[in-house]
Amino acid sequence: MAIQSPEGTRDLLPDEAKFWTHFKATAAEIFGRYGYLPIETPVFEQTELFVRGIGEATDVVSKEMFTAISGENLKKLLEGGSVKAKSRLSMRPEGTAGTVRAVVQHDLVPQGAAPAKLMYAGPMFRAERPQKGRQRQFNQVGIECLGAEDPSVDAEGIIMLMRFYAAIGIPVRATRLLVNSMGCETCRPAYREAVKAYMDAHADELCDECKRRAEINPLRAFDCKNPGCTAVMESAPKITEHLCDDCREHYLSVKTYLDGAGLSYVEDPTLVRGLDYYTRTVFEVQVTEGMGSQNAIGGGGRYDKLTEEVGGRPTPGFGWALGYERCVLALEAAGHAFPKAQRCDFFVACVDASVRAEAFSLVQACRDAGLVGEMDHQRRSLKSQFKLADKLGASMVAVLGPDELARGEVTVRNMQTHRERAIELPKIKALLAHFGGEPFDGRAPSVDEVFGGLDDAE
Ligand code: AMP
Repeated sequence: MAIQSPEGTRDLLPDEAKFWTHFKATAAEIFGRYGYLPIETPVFEQTELFVRGIGEATDVVSKEMFTAISGENLKKLLEGGSVKAKSRLSMRPEGTAGTVRAVVQHDLVPQGAAPAKLMYAGPMFRAERPQKGRQRQFNQVGIECLGAEDPSVDAEGIIMLMRFYAAIGIPVRATRLLVNSMGCETCRPAYREAVKAYMDAHADELCDECKRRAEINPLRAFDCKNPGCTAVMESAPKITEHLCDDCREHYLSVKTYLDGAGLSYVEDPTLVRGLDYYTRTVFEVQVTEGMGSQNAIGGGGRYDKLTEEVGGRPTPGFGWALGYERCVLALEAAGHAFPKAQRCDFFVACVDASVRAEAFSLVQACRDAGLVGEMDHQRRSLKSQFKLADKLGASMVAVLGPDELARGEVTVRNMQTHRERAIELPKIKALLAHFGGEPFDGRAPSVDEVFGGLDDAE
């Protein structure tokens, strides 16, 4: 059997790959209005970064990381040797740790500077059990803002994400925005203790995993999918009743900004999210119908202690990531299909092989003029060439034969109107040359713009 793609991965075939490009371009355009600039970081980092940044006890780090190892180091390990800490590498399971590492390494937020606003888009890797909406390689688009703790950063970050969903075609009414505050180092320790005490009192109703969580990170039990644990945790102490004054005010202010922007949201005091680094604001966006349990299309929050964890000076931060594949599922649930990628504006068909060189140069002139030009590369019959042009969605087909060439003409057929006429080759080439070279108005011209003048002349 032919080799298949690895479990939990997905090929983006051309129509979808085009959509992914459009998705990223839309993100860059919208987030650019909020001052966010792109950053590209490696897809693998030192394992230590994720252990320190995301947290050793998280599922993502303890169970789901893919190790990246060079052939040389693998050999060393297999022979019972060890490799240096800096050679222990992992594929990135998320984008925040790497972005924050880059901010610290390149000092992108010098003391007193404006916040660094960064966005990224690319693949993440988690060794999860694959299912619909849960992959081992998936794409995220994310933003990070480092250097400001004001609630306006959190609010604008959430607002721009919701604007993006709408722009990409996910109806706002199909989504639910959940918000919460997870407190800070002042108020969270006491809250954790309160949750731990509550869990200890209900230990016999909790799964083994949650009993372990009670010791290491009790708040993680809010994410347990076990129905018994969910029922117990519903009555657990709520963070909102334990926030210190500063955190309460910060949270209130975030909500006030969201209200002002007309966003509706649901406060969910059990929303803790799976990663260790969050402080204060956390949020998640879910799709309300058609996506089963994998209904989270994005989420994030504030992480005011993360830069210190990775060795930088104290720098408050806020960020989120959205899952591209989940957005595609949400779009499908809302009845969208990928628009078919336009494959051809102008097809040059050859009556026989003697005109191929002339056809080749005409197609090339089309491409230089900014049009999508194509010809047959398999020496098909004229009839099959027309079929191919049709399949590619060509709006015009030029037919070139020895007789036409001898007259210095080409027959051009408009595939919509089916009208045909002969045009002098030098005339068509001059027209194409007019659009070639310099970019036309900063963009590629349409076939109508190039050939519109010819229509008028008819
Ligand atoms: P997280 O980094 O876990 O907060 O995830 C952010 C977003 O990425 C989620 O809301 C999902 O939309 C998406 N996501 C997370 N894990 C996966 C996965 N294994 N497969 C597909 N999408 C994912």
